[in-house]
Parts: sequence; structure tokens; C-alpha cells
Amino acid sequence: MIKTDIIIIGAGPVGLFTVFEAGLLKLRCHLIDSLPIPGGQCAEIYPKKPIYDIPGYPSILAGDLVDNLMTQIKPFKPSFTLGETATHIERNDEGKFIVTTKQGTKHEAPVVAIAGGLGVFIPRKPPIFNIKEFENKGVAYIVKDPEIYRNKNIVISGGGDSALDWALFFANNFSKKVTLIHRSQSFRAHLDSVQQAMNMAEKGKINLILDAEVIGLDGNNKLEKITVKNKSQEEIAIDSDYWLPLFGLTPKLGPIANWGLEIEKNAIVVNNATDYSTNIDGVYAIGDVNTYPGKLKLILCGFHEATIMVQAAFKKIHPNKNNVLKYTTVSGVNGFD
Ligand SMILES: Cc1cc2nc3c(=O)[nH]c(=O)nc-3n(C[C@H](O)[C@H](O)[C@H](O)COP(=O)(O)OP(=O)(O)OC[C@H]3O[C@@H](n4cnc5c(N)ncnc54)[C@H](O)[C@@H]3O)c2cc1C
Repeated sequence: MIKTDIIIIGAGPVGLFTVFEAGLLKLRCHLIDSLPIPGGQCAEIYPKKPIYDIPGYPSILAGDLVDNLMTQIKPFKPSFTLGETATHIERNDEGKFIVTTKQGTKHEAPVVAIAGGLGVFIPRKPPIFNIKEFENKGVAYIVKDPEIYRNKNIVISGGGDSALDWALFFANNFSKKVTLIHRSQSFRAHLDSVQQAMNMAEKGKINLILDAEVIGLDGNNKLEKITVKNKSQEEIAIDSDYWLPLFGLTPKLGPIANWGLEIEKNAIVVNNATDYSTNIDGVYAIGDVNTYPGKLKLILCGFHEATIMVQAAFKKIHPNKNNVLKYTTVSGVNGFD
């Protein structure tokens, strides 16, 4: 059993910053995340995109923000259960919460902070029988690190912004050959991106195949070839090192939705007038996962919510202690030994 002061469900930017604010109050935290790495959406969806609205940073890559948060919380020695989804919550006889993961790891604390973001991200996968065999061996549903596609043959499928943006990015940058396959003639992406893709197809910089879809994958232990079927039912084989079926990600609140919390539009209702508490005493919800009048799903709003929330957590954990707000410029950052 892992015992701590605050169990944080979700190691996205908001969950990570909670560790810092809790640490200033000498509260220890343990984070649980379904993903194998911390960082939430910033790490999983857009690590190489610059963010422009983090106070004090005119521009920072999402991945660098996560690295900085990890450095900032290091003195408070947070512990992690990564790659495991929190599935159950219950109270023990002492009134503490026990949070259990799908794998059976148990965590105990008097306070739970849910920072689960949009929930667990599930990519829409094309129905190809052997697709699993090639996952992480040429097939990827998210572009995490564009560098790995340098000088490679890439096939991208999809008609939305993600497919078009990455096709243009790779064709303009360093890939050997970019093929964009879409099953219709019309795209859902921005008109400007569609026009750019058409222009690049005319110049031969993108191999654009419309009214077609990928029906087969081949390779010896890694992807080497894909088979495409077009409108005339012809089957074309294309050499490819990577296939990126970018059909979108569906966020699902997941097991949290069954914990007896008040849910509205796939988010947890909280009291924003006080401390971001939920309808379960001792359980708080912060960041993208919560909702209240005027809610904005932004990192900086989540940071604010975390700061307010840990003050309430302190009172719950130490009902007889007084907490006086101290500036870090005065108190410094005294981590745990
Ligand atoms: C492309 C893109 C660009 C963006 N640009 C900006 C921007 O410029 N500025 C800005 O402020 N915001 C931006 N955002 C939004 C920003 O990323 C989110 O507001 C932020 O990530 C929310 O942080 P969070 O910690 O609340 O949740 P998340 O980052 O979503 O992290 C939640 C974590 O909880 C985990 N989780 C969920 N349920 C469970 C469970 N049951 N058990 C274990 N783990 C669980 C998930 O795996 C995830 O890692 C952008 C978002 C996207 C997609």
C-alpha cells in the first residue's frame, strides 16, 4: 500500500504543479497516470508545439514546460504510479481514501485530487487485422517526436487538421517521401492547409491519393509496405517506413465517471467559489477535468485551481493547524529530506 497526504490522479501539467504548491505546505503527493510518462496532453499530444500563454515565458515548447515542472517539483520528492489507470476509489474505516489501479496497485491518503484532464486518450484505430503487430514498429497514431521521421518514407491517412498539418510539415522539412491518403475528395481541415497540400501535390512534393484507403500492412518485424485500395478497387503497394493514421483521438473520462461524482458534459462539477471541492468530501477536481461557470480549459487556470485546492487539503489533513501564506521569495523552497 502506497501511503501519502494527497493522491493526485493525472500527472499532466496541473497534477505536477499541485506537487509544488502542496510541498510548500509540507504535504507529500503521489501521482497516478495511465500514460507511461508524466506531462498529460503536453507530453502525449503536442510536446514540440510552442505555448505562448504561460506567464513569464513568451514561448515555451510543451515538452520543455513538462521538464521544467519536473525540475520544479523535485525538492518535494513526489512518487509516481505510471502506466496504470486509477479504476476504483473507496473509504477505509479511518475515513481515508483507497485508490486502486487496474493493475491492482493500492494507494491511501486522506485527500484525493483528480487532475485527469480530458480523461484517457483513445486513438481511433483503422480496422486492419494485423495493425497491433506494427504499433510502435512503424504505425503511430500521434506524432510525438518529428525527428524520427527524418529521411523516411511516410504515409499519412486522414482528412482533418492533424493529417494535413503533419503532411505539410514533413513535406516542407526533412522527410524523404510523403504520401497523403484520404478516403474522400473533401477535407475537414482548414481551407488554407488543403490548398497548400494541393499545391504541393502539383509540384510533386506530396503524393496525394484521394478516394482511397489503406487496407493492408506488411513487413518483417517492422513496417515495410502498405497496400492501398482506390475507388476503382485497384490495390497499390507503397513502400513505407511509417504509417500515421491520424483519424483523431477520443477523450474518455473513463473509470472516474463511475465514482459517484457529479458529472456535467464529461467533466466533474466543482465549487469554484471555495476550493474546487467535488460532491465527495475530501475529493477535489482541478484542471481540464472540472467544470464550473466560466471555466477555461487552460494550463494557467489549472495552476491557479491547484494553488487554492491545496490550502483546503491542508485544513482537511491538519484541522488543528494554522497555515499562514508565505511568499517563496521569503520562505524559499524547503523540500523534503
Ligand atoms: C494541441 C493542443 C494545444 C494546446 N495549447 C494550449 C495552449 O497554448 N495554452 C494552454 O494553456 N493550453 C493549451 N492546451 C490545453 C492544455 O494542454 C490543457 O489545458 C492541459 O493539458 C490540462 O492539464 P491537466 O493536467 O488538467 O490535464 P491533462 O494534460 O489532460 O492530463 C491529465 C492526465 O490524467 C491522466 N488520467 C486521466 N484519467 C486517469 C485515470 N483514471 N487514471 C490515471 N490517469 C488518468 C491522463 O492520462 C493524463 O495524462 C492545448 C491542448 C491541445 C490538445
